[in-house]
Amino acid sequence: MAGKFKVPRGTYDILPDESYKWQFMTNVFREVAGEFNYREIVTPIFEKSDIFERSVGETSDIVEKEMYKFEDKKGRIFALRPEGTAPVVRSFIENGLLLKPNSAKLYYLGPMFRYDRPQKGRFRQFYQYGIENIGSNDPYVDAEVISFAYMFLSKLGLKNFQLQINSIGCKNCTQDYDNALKKYFAPYQNDLCSDCRKRLEKNPKRVLDCKVKTCQIIAKGAPSMLDYLDEDCTTNFNKVQQYLTEMRISFVVNPKIVRGLDYYSQTAFEFIDTNLGAQNTLIGGGRYDGLAEQLGGRELPGIGFAGGFERLLLSMEEENLSFGQPQTPKVYLVTVGNEARSAGIKLILELRRSGISAEFDSDKTSMNAQMKRANKTGAAFALILGDDELKRNMIIIKNLANGEQKEINITDIIKSLKDK
Ligand SMILES: [Zn+2]
Ligand SMILES: [Zn+2]
Repeated sequence: MAGKFKVPRGTYDILPDESYKWQFMTNVFREVAGEFNYREIVTPIFEKSDIFERSVGETSDIVEKEMYKFEDKKGRIFALRPEGTAPVVRSFIENGLLLKPNSAKLYYLGPMFRYDRPQKGRFRQFYQYGIENIGSNDPYVDAEVISFAYMFLSKLGLKNFQLQINSIGCKNCTQDYDNALKKYFAPYQNDLCSDCRKRLEKNPKRVLDCKVKTCQIIAKGAPSMLDYLDEDCTTNFNKVQQYLTEMRISFVVNPKIVRGLDYYSQTAFEFIDTNLGAQNTLIGGGRYDGLAEQLGGRELPGIGFAGGFERLLLSMEEENLSFGQPQTPKVYLVTVGNEARSAGIKLILELRRSGISAEFDSDKTSMNAQMKRANKTGAAFALILGDDELKRNMIIIKNLANGEQKEINITDIIKSLKDK
């Protein structure tokens, strides 16, 4: 039954047999958010495109090549959001959320968009989860944000992941480091990829992040940011590590983590899946103390992380983890005869009203056919009602797992099912 229309290139449908997995991951995320007292914020899926140009930065791949920009009927330029942090900070400033108590801990879930060449595991519409903690620069907050991510992955049952952390310094110490990098890369300039040659001018740290093999080989010998941290940043980074140790969260320091986005400073971290190949980052995050100011607010520290559900799903499948039970009805109602059918129509509504998930055959088929369907739906019980039972005000309840069945009074059925 192939139709004329196909899902847009780079997108996909989450079908009913898969959607329970997504619900599971989302529910666990919301649970952890509750435990850490983060509250949900929902922003539009499109924003004025300069929000991303100003924040994510014009030298980043996202803005240069991958933004899904469009013009509306009045000629305004919008972009489908490529990431979640800038819209959250935009909303934070616009609504003065800092003035209200406990508003600075926010989480979001939803689709993001990149006009990227689709490839395995990379989509034009993809789904992310993330948190933002805005208003504090205490290193404890850095450790708490990291522990949220750690708790989330652990609660899903994942074991094969590693936390890598780094400090990328502040405005004060990054200048010297950028100069050191420029000096280091200068002799290799012609061997770097064309993107990196541009990066070397505007944002040399991003060369360290390049996925091109030759760039990676050259970057191996580059000076380490950690040798350029000023006193403040060093103290800060040590404290973050100390808190993590106190929380018994193991980590490794990886000075090559720079984050792809321009507004990050100090703490940067990644959770890496140790099973997956090249595209192995489960969660990426860090501090972005300069972002609010770039979006026209006052200077305001912030830290957060984001991760993709697609990658998470792969990792969970790789480790054979459970996504809970797919949705099935508790009861499948089988009726035989016209009067039983009318009574059944009333009964099914009552069952549902009492919170019991119930399915009913809309076709008038034979009892055998209905029983087959009942088994196929994965229902725990079949209720069988014939005209004969109806006359005596009785109904048959059959346990579909072990085949046991008995007759009970119709008026007792809801209570009886609720006890099971
Ligand atoms: Zn610094
Ligand atoms: Zn490169």
